[in-house]
Amino acid sequence: MTTIYNFSAGPAMMPKAVLEQAQQELLNWQGLGTSVMEVSHRGKPFMALVEQAKQDFRQLYAIPDNYKILFLQGGARGQFAAIPMNLIGEKGKALYLTSGHWSATAAKEARNFCEIDEINILAENAPLQTTSLDFTEIAEQYDYVHYCPNETISGVEIFDLPKVGNAVLVADMSSNILSREIDINHFGMIYAGAQKNLGPAGITIVIVREDLLNKARQDTPSIWHYATQVKSDSMINTPPTFAWYLCSLVFKHLLAHGGVKGAEARNRAKAALLYRYLDDSNFYQNHVAPQNRSLMNVTFTTGNDELNAKFVEEATACGLQALKGHKVLGGMRASIYNAMPIEGVEALIAFMEKFARENAK
Ligand SMILES: *Cc1c(COP(=O)(O)O)cnc(C)c1O
Repeated sequence: MTTIYNFSAGPAMMPKAVLEQAQQELLNWQGLGTSVMEVSHRGKPFMALVEQAKQDFRQLYAIPDNYKILFLQGGARGQFAAIPMNLIGEKGKALYLTSGHWSATAAKEARNFCEIDEINILAENAPLQTTSLDFTEIAEQYDYVHYCPNETISGVEIFDLPKVGNAVLVADMSSNILSREIDINHFGMIYAGAQKNLGPAGITIVIVREDLLNKARQDTPSIWHYATQVKSDSMINTPPTFAWYLCSLVFKHLLAHGGVKGAEARNRAKAALLYRYLDDSNFYQNHVAPQNRSLMNVTFTTGNDELNAKFVEEATACGLQALKGHKVLGGMRASIYNAMPIEGVEALIAFMEKFARENAK
């Protein structure tokens, strides 16, 4: 069998070592004679897993003690609604910075729950790039400022922090959590669906600063209520135990491979290789300005829909899977999350060279 490299944007590839460990202990977890998915979430063995996972995640991302870590359900999209329910307070209003599909979708959902102002932070013309991120003058009129530091569909990443003075900064890190080092202290809250960089679909991580826990509106459903979930160890209802377990293995795996620092070095090397090839090529184009090029999702096109379709088909036949771009954008997208080894990027570039040679006019 040819080596398969899966460039899916999400659910995305998992570290092979993690899948092998899960396979090996599937039928007999911790000598209990059952799988981890068959034991009580409130029993000692599973509670120990949960505690360790939380500690490992806190260590990996250097999360200060005044932040709570929640493992919830409902994906990032559930948080689009939970955030206004939990964080709107006396100011009664939030600011949404939009830079593409996901930040705009978060803003749209929030409108159902509160008043918001929306500012598009993308420049009008190509290439895709962000404009000024200084909102110090206005940010404190709002209960929070929301943005998406990595737009998964277009491949736009925002490396500079928006300047918001003392306002609460909220970030949708679904597609770049644990990909590079960040200073958590700048954020009021961070959230991410697991299925890109943390584990399988079905679990969502929320990191929330303690002082923000008591603002939720009265009618917030208990599964979305951060303070309630903190009190019940993220177990107000039965949690997705198997997904939680797999995340715990991913954390251990990352810790054993240099933590987030190590992941960042690998991610920067992979992305640099691919963007350098794109810049040198006159066959493919990438439409993102260098300062906003995502380390996780690399978009490119031949500029011709038929050729793009041919590219995806032939790449798939060579074991390079899921390179078709998102339907709203077309073209191709290579998602190169933490679990993608550099060999996958090298194989992709080798294929791209061959395809360009064979199809150049
Ligand atoms: C995938 C993604 C989402 C949606 O995640 P769900 O868990 O499916 O709700 C939201 N935001 C970003 C940045 C994403 O990449």
